[in-house]
Amino acid sequence: MHDFHYSGSELFCEAVAIRSLVEKYGTPLYVYSQSTLTDHFQKLDRSLSTLDHMVCYAMKANSNQAVMRTLADLGAGFDVVSEGELRRVIAAGGDPRKCVFAGVGKTEAEIEFALKHGIYSFNVESEPELARINAVAARMKKRAPVAVRVNPNVDAGTHAKITTGTYENKFGIAYEKVEGVYSRASKLKNINLRGIQMHIGSQLTDVKPFERAVAKIAPLVSKLASRYGFEFISIGGGIGIVYEPALESGEINWWKTTAARKILTPSVYATTLVPMLQPLGLRVLLEPGRFIVGNAGILVTRVEYVKRTGRKNFVIVDAAMNDLIRPAFYDSYHQIVPVAAKGGARIPSDVVGPICESGDYFAKDRPLPKVGEGDCLALLSAGAYGSVMGSNYNTRGLAAEVLVHGKQSALVRRRQSLDDIWKLESLPEWFR
Ligand SMILES: *Cc1c(COP(=O)(O)O)cnc(C)c1O
Repeated sequence: MHDFHYSGSELFCEAVAIRSLVEKYGTPLYVYSQSTLTDHFQKLDRSLSTLDHMVCYAMKANSNQAVMRTLADLGAGFDVVSEGELRRVIAAGGDPRKCVFAGVGKTEAEIEFALKHGIYSFNVESEPELARINAVAARMKKRAPVAVRVNPNVDAGTHAKITTGTYENKFGIAYEKVEGVYSRASKLKNINLRGIQMHIGSQLTDVKPFERAVAKIAPLVSKLASRYGFEFISIGGGIGIVYEPALESGEINWWKTTAARKILTPSVYATTLVPMLQPLGLRVLLEPGRFIVGNAGILVTRVEYVKRTGRKNFVIVDAAMNDLIRPAFYDSYHQIVPVAAKGGARIPSDVVGPICESGDYFAKDRPLPKVGEGDCLALLSAGAYGSVMGSNYNTRGLAAEVLVHGKQSALVRRRQSLDDIWKLESLPEWFR
């Protein structure tokens, strides 16, 4: 569900007309709905209410501080993957003690910073990393809380670029080796074996892979938990969202009218997994990113040109792959709707950006109402892995971001100026 809807022929986010935001802030523009963020967080949080649990939002999906603050105020912890992200948690008013630190390449400086701020756990991806964390902690006269990331070798059945839980991936420690790793880790003086972790992939729309992975590791977890006195198990993130409604009808509030093609709800997720996790008697951590923020954001763009070549109708817009790379990177689908609804026949259209790459497209042969220069379009479900993957390719500034809360709206990231883009560069003195 989300809080974007039409009122009359106008697209709204909560009680704010998108058109008014475009007039005020220009395009390309990311718009986030605070009520949607809140709703998604609470649905998941409440589905686990029978367990001691903590939801650590995977902030790599969207690390705008206003988004993070919304979640921190609801009690969220954070899954961070760099010192930069941990510093952002602190800047946004989040609690480092509710943070888990993931990633295969943690540097000494990052480990030191995280230890200094008392993070909840390092999710460890290799033995050399364990040795490094132990050494840094020894130097700081601390004990570092860690969980080993188990790779359960379960195929999440999702896109190759977002599958992480098989032995083909760089992530985690092979299931068969985990027991030995814990045994060696238990001899490291400055390591506190606080728990165990897994994360099998992203955009899972079926509960089965989660079920298989939890079933596979549960006996091992149970054995290790009593041996080493674990406090928690993290079952990672990866809950998928609806990108493509069942019918290409222009319907954006799909949950009201059509059965979504495939949907993994918090209740299905919890009904399946809670009974499997409960007997472990551990605190359960979740690391959802996309589920919380994916459908809570849209990217608004303006039509620059409509161009017909051969049999194709190209709608050239002012947003590009530097603003939203998902279609180019993951072949992903984003529903595209006009900001001012239009009737009439639908024309198969390619929606493309101005960047000099054939990969710079948002949709191919998509039936769209007839649009013309100056019309605005919204790319839905752009809240996760959208703005955060923005770049300056083609010397284009990063898009502005707005948060909507009821009737209120606020700029939560200003548009990057062109000077901002090249201010880190300098010419060598021999050119002067
Ligand atoms: C990316 C990531 C997540 C979040 O994945 P989503 O699909 O956005 O929920 C959680 N945990 C880890 C370790 C990750 O790398």
